[in-house]
Amino acid sequence: MEQSSNNHLPFVSSKLALLKEPLTIPLYTIHRGRHAEIPNATSILNQQVINDITAIAKAIDTLSKTNSTYRDIKDHTLFRRMYGLRSKTMEVAVNTWTEERTVDALPCHFCGTIFALEHISVDHTRPQQGLKMQGNCEAIAKVLRVFEMTEGYGKGQKSSMLTAAIKTAKEHKDGLQAGMFRFLVDNEGAALPISTVPIKHPATIPSVFTDATLDDRYTLNQDGQIFYSLVVAAGMEKALKERCMNSLVNLRPLCFKCNSGRGAPALF
Ligand SMILES: [Zn+2]
Repeated sequence: MEQSSNNHLPFVSSKLALLKEPLTIPLYTIHRGRHAEIPNATSILNQQVINDITAIAKAIDTLSKTNSTYRDIKDHTLFRRMYGLRSKTMEVAVNTWTEERTVDALPCHFCGTIFALEHISVDHTRPQQGLKMQGNCEAIAKVLRVFEMTEGYGKGQKSSMLTAAIKTAKEHKDGLQAGMFRFLVDNEGAALPISTVPIKHPATIPSVFTDATLDDRYTLNQDGQIFYSLVVAAGMEKALKERCMNSLVNLRPLCFKCNSGRGAPALF
């Protein structure tokens, strides 16, 4: 399994699976990318809801790495498909002559230049930033969005494709978790509605301030609030943040020049 390198950290899902009904939890949300309390609001969860939420947490795990292993996302089947991994014959200088070698290669998501995979860096779309670590909550909203747990849906092609892929996994006869597993490790993955994400130069990314739907996309809906609140109640908020920060949803391949040259990231 892809998560084997993550075993030194507890999964978000493992602790959730231990929770039993009836469970009354205070409600929290992420509103416009920030953690917020919902005053005097609680929710009573039955076992079915807890099981559904645990299945979603497991699905989030299958898309995620950790702070120390996020670069391994380059091995993830969906990352490779979405960012156009290909076999490429490259000329390599050897002493005073050259040889041809076939390597795994990938275009930088910003400039489009194709590099050998080992020369591509992995960038966080929503980075950790500032004292309040706002990027963490934004990353959670970004991940929950592809599970349809935010007010607004993703507008970009990557977000739309992942939302469609997770919908397909949900419809698997054995449920979401089985669907995710089959699509990631079995040949059934070919059936997922995933294609290559177009190269997107930062200059073409719309400004945060002109996008009226942005707040909704970073605000949890009712399902999202219940999911997030249960994770908080289980004391797994930090683990969820780490998972979402280092999720396929929040990671993209950039060349070293584009990665080191970019300033404040635009939300998209
Ligand atoms: Zn580049």
